[in-house]
Amino acid sequence: MKKLLPYYRHLFAVKWHFAAGVLAGIVFAVSSGAGIPAIIDVVFPVLFNERRASEGSSAAVVEWIQNYLGGHSRERLLLIVCMGIPLIFFIRALSGYLNAYLITYSGLRVVESIRDEMFFKLQSLPVSYYRKNKAGDLLARLMADTDVLRQAIANSSSDLVKQPVTLIAALSFLTSLAVKDRSFFIAIIALLSVPVCVLIIRTAGNKLAKRAFALQACGGDLTAALAESLQSPLEIRAYNLQERQISMFRARIRQILTLTMKVVKYRQAISPSIDVVAALGFAFALFFGVQAGMEMSGFITLGAALYMAYDPVKKLGNIHSIFRQAAVSVDRVEYVLHEPDTLPDTPSPRPCPAPQQSIRFENVTFAYGEEPVLHAVNLEIPVGQVVALVGPSGAGKSTFASLIPRFYDPRDGRVTFDGVDVREFSKKDLRNRIAIVPQMPSLFLGSFADNIRVGRLDASDAEVREAARRAHADEFIRGYPDGYDTSVGERGDLLSGGQRQRIAIARAFLRDAPVLILDEATSALDSDSEAAVQEALADLVKGRTTFIIAHRFSTITIADRILAFQRGRIVADGTHESLRDVDPIYRAMLGSELVAATNGAGA
Ligand code: ATP
Repeated sequence: MKKLLPYYRHLFAVKWHFAAGVLAGIVFAVSSGAGIPAIIDVVFPVLFNERRASEGSSAAVVEWIQNYLGGHSRERLLLIVCMGIPLIFFIRALSGYLNAYLITYSGLRVVESIRDEMFFKLQSLPVSYYRKNKAGDLLARLMADTDVLRQAIANSSSDLVKQPVTLIAALSFLTSLAVKDRSFFIAIIALLSVPVCVLIIRTAGNKLAKRAFALQACGGDLTAALAESLQSPLEIRAYNLQERQISMFRARIRQILTLTMKVVKYRQAISPSIDVVAALGFAFALFFGVQAGMEMSGFITLGAALYMAYDPVKKLGNIHSIFRQAAVSVDRVEYVLHEPDTLPDTPSPRPCPAPQQSIRFENVTFAYGEEPVLHAVNLEIPVGQVVALVGPSGAGKSTFASLIPRFYDPRDGRVTFDGVDVREFSKKDLRNRIAIVPQMPSLFLGSFADNIRVGRLDASDAEVREAARRAHADEFIRGYPDGYDTSVGERGDLLSGGQRQRIAIARAFLRDAPVLILDEATSALDSDSEAAVQEALADLVKGRTTFIIAHRFSTITIADRILAFQRGRIVADGTHESLRDVDPIYRAMLGSELVAATNGAGA
């Protein structure tokens, strides 16, 4: 319960709905806890013309009704008295309905607001967070765990008010009976079994929490495995992994089934255990009550009141188990919400102008973990220079490029724009100055126009078309019947590698940023695509400080400068011509890494 308290602030936005829902719950509780036993106590004696020798308000009501009946048509008044039963049930039904409706609404608003906060946080977390967490697991935390919180905060919170009020109403009614009639006092000794119920609830709740933790973690793993399978249909078919995927999926859903059944075992054990304890209490009540001379009609009243007292105990037991499970979900939600931002913006950022002179790497060392993957890199790139980064896989080219837009911060040293550390700009401002064309660009749900507009959200249709034209994408887009309005399909699967790259290049044209980072596609593009992509790139890099992670020889020839990386160090720096003739490392790289491309270019 304590863990959930901070999340109750989300109810503030719907405080009136929630308050009305709780009020309806109280009406429901009072009409259940006291109304029904009272009807039995008041209406039944009248119906059967029986009058107990009891004192107090209900006896007075009985007396009044019977006197009243004496002077009026008995049938008519009997009808009115009988109508008391549906009236109580009507009040109970209406208040129960309003309670469920308003509390469900409040719950959904709570879940919406927690999801909103989580999604906001996920958007602000650095790229590294997504490398260490599986997308499916984050999805499970965002959707499934917040739903558990919804259930606990809204649905069960109303019960937190409703059930104790029902219990208090039923206990008050029982006490009032006991005050009137001593035989009832003996009978309510039956309620001493309530502490036993509490013990059952606590024990089952503790056991359930452990299983719930494993279950929710396993649910996250399942969503992650599912997302992975659904996102890799090609590899799964190419390597005939279907059976492996199916058996992994089966193993996971079987594990979920086992853990769910453990949770169900403890949750479902609470209610019947309380029933048995309550039945024992009721047996004692029967035994002592009859011995104390209780009449049958009195016993019916007592039975109803005892039921109304045990029912909330049972429901509170259920709530306890829901809260224990919710505490597990709180931990999983807070894993996201409380994640510290490892790349915070400086409190008072400077405006980030386009670099006028140079971008510098000053003694930059970087490590993802313990081992540095860039070692004390010192470098100055004059504005407007086109730099190709070459070197074997894992040499540190992408890492080097990712320090410029602050996807990561160096462990030591600094990256500067005209001498100003990039950490002094806001990330948003800095990234507005940089356009990135990744190796496998992501396409979003929507049309071609929507996807190009990612480069600059307020671009006009004419600007979008112009960017597509310069990226050599206009022609193939217009080939579709709906042209720019054609939906690109989920993740753009309908497009070839070259087409996706040209969409990404169109985005970069639209952004028109002074700094460009380009990760060339390694996949072989068909010759038409390759020619179109190269032409588009040659146009795009003009006048921009450009870093190209180069995989093709043709790129090397358009670069003003080559940086050859090896094991996190720049081992050669110069033009292609100068390095080719004198630098043995670069020559060796050309011979191995880029030999195919060199041959291709020469062909
Ligand atoms: P490629 O040409 O294959 O893309 P690269 O030269 O761009 O390679 P990087 O991707 O910069 O190389 O990787 C440099 C080193 O850092 C490699 O040893 C790699 O395994 C490691 N590395 C890269 N990304 C991460 C990461 N997110 N977490 C941990 N290690 C990483």
